[in-house]
Amino acid sequence: MKQSFTRPFSFIAKNLSSLLLVVLGFLMAPGVQAQDVCQLIPLSLEERVQAAQVVVEGKVISQRSFWDEKHENIYTASQVEVYKVFKGEPTATTVEIITEGGRVDMDLHVYSATLSLKKEQQGVFFLQSPKPSPKAKLAKTGYTVFGSTQGFIKYQLTEGTAKDPFTRYASIPLEVYGSLARLSGRTLKAVKANTDLDIALKPKPATQNQRRSIPTIDNFSPKSLRAGTGDVLTITGTNFGSTRGNGYVEFRNSDDGGKTFVKPLATDYLGWSDTQIRVKVPSYGIDGGTAGTGDFRVVNNDPNTATSASPLNIIFAHSNVSYESEERKIEEQSVQTRLISQNGQGGYTFRFGASFEANTAALYAFKRSMNEWSCTTFVNWNTVSNNPVANTADDNINAVRFATASDDLPANVLGRTISRYRGCISGTVLNFWVDEIDMEFAQRSDWQYGPDASTNRQFDFQSVVVHELGHGHQLSHLILPKAVMHYAVARGQSSRTLNPENDIAGGNYVMERSRTASPCGEKPMEPKPANACAIPVELIELEAELTVNNQVLLQWTTQQENGITAFAVERSPDGETYTTIGTVPASGTSTTPTSYEFLDTSPLTVLNYYRLRLIRANTVVEEYSEVVQVAGPNFVRQIAPNPGGNETTLFFNTTEKEVLHLAIFNTAGQLYREWSLEVTPESNKYDITLFPAQKEGKTDMYPTRRGLFLIKWSTKQENGVIRYLKLE
Ligand SMILES: [Zn+2]
Repeated sequence: MKQSFTRPFSFIAKNLSSLLLVVLGFLMAPGVQAQDVCQLIPLSLEERVQAAQVVVEGKVISQRSFWDEKHENIYTASQVEVYKVFKGEPTATTVEIITEGGRVDMDLHVYSATLSLKKEQQGVFFLQSPKPSPKAKLAKTGYTVFGSTQGFIKYQLTEGTAKDPFTRYASIPLEVYGSLARLSGRTLKAVKANTDLDIALKPKPATQNQRRSIPTIDNFSPKSLRAGTGDVLTITGTNFGSTRGNGYVEFRNSDDGGKTFVKPLATDYLGWSDTQIRVKVPSYGIDGGTAGTGDFRVVNNDPNTATSASPLNIIFAHSNVSYESEERKIEEQSVQTRLISQNGQGGYTFRFGASFEANTAALYAFKRSMNEWSCTTFVNWNTVSNNPVANTADDNINAVRFATASDDLPANVLGRTISRYRGCISGTVLNFWVDEIDMEFAQRSDWQYGPDASTNRQFDFQSVVVHELGHGHQLSHLILPKAVMHYAVARGQSSRTLNPENDIAGGNYVMERSRTASPCGEKPMEPKPANACAIPVELIELEAELTVNNQVLLQWTTQQENGITAFAVERSPDGETYTTIGTVPASGTSTTPTSYEFLDTSPLTVLNYYRLRLIRANTVVEEYSEVVQVAGPNFVRQIAPNPGGNETTLFFNTTEKEVLHLAIFNTAGQLYREWSLEVTPESNKYDITLFPAQKEGKTDMYPTRRGLFLIKWSTKQENGVIRYLKLE
């Protein structure tokens, strides 16, 4: 925490517990075994004590982020002053703890479901001994935290309590020290006095704060707004104090379902008077965390607390990053992120790890999840096949992988998203854009990949992927069980469909921002067209050939099918306008390769383009196979249109991949130009430029622009001549 809160106030337990009951009531559906905070499975205190070599109480006193030796990932080294030891022997009274992510100048890596520490935070750390990381050779070694976010019990000094992702500890001496002593089998060893905590835990005269001014909240507006978009909440009431001082507003933290509160950054306050506060609703608070739906509180400088009588509704939360620089004299502030055209084709292209791609059920679940976003917000995401990625690194490759190395994912994390940002400063305006998105998923035997529903002993893979893609889309958590961006997914619970009011509204907001040109010259994202938003889920190998009877035989194979009811066969004369010429029923759900065929008894005479449209029950998303071209019975090798220009099209069919040699002569037999191009059976049509020099404007290199030319072609077996009238 940035500000020092040395004077605790009495914690208003009534409101917190009533909200928790509401939240838990929503979540505790029958059969639910566990609650998961952003893809975490609980680790018991016992498991954490056993797995850690060293357990200490300490405070982060300084931090530095750095690139690993290969310049693949950014890590942060935090110096932690040790106050108490519960297990093991720390190497010194100040230990170094390495966490993933951080910022080096304008490069910033943010991991979901992964511990990130901030200066001044204190609590209990479950540490694993320094060891060289096999994943990425670190420039330095230090302790790592076992279980990542679960390996840190964070103290909340203003309340004298502590919390980790699943548990709130009302009493640090009883519930934290007591449990640790019992589990480690030894009494705690004090290294240094923890002055902040001692003051926080000291009993106070009950009337101390009450003699001062007690704030009240009379009203607030609007009742519903968005976090991380700059939306401003105006709170009216009394006794807020004429200036903020050490006062603050705090919102329910959607990263833990509202167990704790989020305080806005100092730069988020736009106005503070005795009767009115204006504050931006943060998606990145002082301690991280995102403002979520629920009651909020105003704490004045005394400090006394007022709690809102009714909840504030958070519609969605747009991910912000924080930036501060002493060098540049920039106070800590939150910055809205944006998506760009990273692949030069309007968006981002994902590549898969080999074991992910080999697991077709997982691969198809990923593609379905991607289509869920791409066909609602039109976020421009694509995938490529058969080009596996080996690791997760800042390498301009958007990787989707199963964790393979033991240190890929922290213990008990189901999946996580790494947003790699790059930034620039234009004037005084900070900009950060998503330069790369990487995703890691746990390899587990209890995944349900779909399309079947998960049992209450399984985790729903597609729900996890849709949620993680939401983080990639630059959305943060909500406290709203009906939304995909709700902070928790429980075993047996599936949440594969985006909800329009929250998830899609949030995605649309990010798209709107991302479509405008970045002040730093990055190419904006181009939304996918609505009629081609989905990528085909099943890999379909479509082949077509002209038979001896002048019919076209189409054959295709699916490797695995998930709920396809039929294939519509579509044909086009130009590859642009398609009509349906027939339908073939699908096997429906199959886990083994299945083959199909269709005979086009009256193909178009010159050129035919074919594709398959996949028909599924319960979806309007249009998915297509790749396109194949087939020359019709009257196909001739020609240049068309003829007469035509310098840039034109060569129609040429072949049964094997070969080199086609071309030469241009005038009618007097004078050779102007020779060149070669590769022709393949998959294509019948090639864009060619007769005289590249003319295209470049060097017209004097050729005697004539207009006239009749003879274009001789030859392959290994055949040759011929095309007469071409060039008009320009
Ligand atoms: Zn999450």
